[in-house]
Amino acid sequence: MVSGATRGIGRGIALELAKQGANISFSYVSSSKEAATLESELAALGVKAKAFQVDIKNFDTVKNWVEETKALFGGLDLVVNNAGIIKDKALAMMDIKEWHDVINTNLDGTFNLCRAAIITFLKQKSGNIINITSVSGMVGLPRQTNYSASKAGIIGLTKALAKEVAAYGIRVNAVAPGFIETDMLKDLSDDFKAKILEHVPLARMGKVEEVAKAVKFLATDESKYITGQTIVVDGGMSIA
Ligand code: NAP
Repeated sequence: MVSGATRGIGRGIALELAKQGANISFSYVSSSKEAATLESELAALGVKAKAFQVDIKNFDTVKNWVEETKALFGGLDLVVNNAGIIKDKALAMMDIKEWHDVINTNLDGTFNLCRAAIITFLKQKSGNIINITSVSGMVGLPRQTNYSASKAGIIGLTKALAKEVAAYGIRVNAVAPGFIETDMLKDLSDDFKAKILEHVPLARMGKVEEVAKAVKFLATDESKYITGQTIVVDGGMSIA
């Protein structure tokens, strides 16, 4: 299961996992056309694929998504919590709705899918959870107090849950992208992008595929001794 796969990083993850032979159940909130396109692209790779319109903020809907996926595919092996939003603003100007929208989507959304999937994983004594956090949650970025808090929360959730469920053969890890070329950053001015790139040692934005490769690593047995970790895919931004 991949949340928020109609665009950007989630779409890249769905395609990468399908190339490894995984059946893909993915969600979106409003991009129905893109969802149908991705369904066809995934099916063309020879796997089963199904799109679900699921607002990740709504626990009951997320729970139904898990149940429908299990019924359709006959089981559940991996959950990727990717759906996320930004609503950047200086804290002095941020209203309570902008705070809650970001926390509810990014952090509550991650809780919702983990909570909805974990009973299945505990019962079968296997499972894998990968949460997409952000460099913003590691170093804190100005005008992103809501986003940085949500993404730092995801790192804490990842570590705590990894300890809680390791004895059941379940791994929980995170991937922290830096500055990746997707729609999420389309409203940033070229000047602002150039300024950010000054803080990226590899001096370019990352590609969706480069994040998807890290997710693929965590999704397979190549990483079977790794849990509770965050793999940073940021061109060195967090050490600069
Ligand atoms: P994006 O291009 O804006 O795509 C966001 C995806 O999430 C879309 O598929 C969207 O569905 C879905 N989504 C948004 N709100 C949702 C909700 N309430 N319920 C279900 N799905 C929802 O974003 P992106 O840049 O690929 O980012 C993906 C993840 O990577 C996010 O968690 C983001 O925080 C993280 N990240 C991104 C960057 C970056 O530089 N781009 C850096 C660090 C971390 P619709 O298409 O239907 O709207």
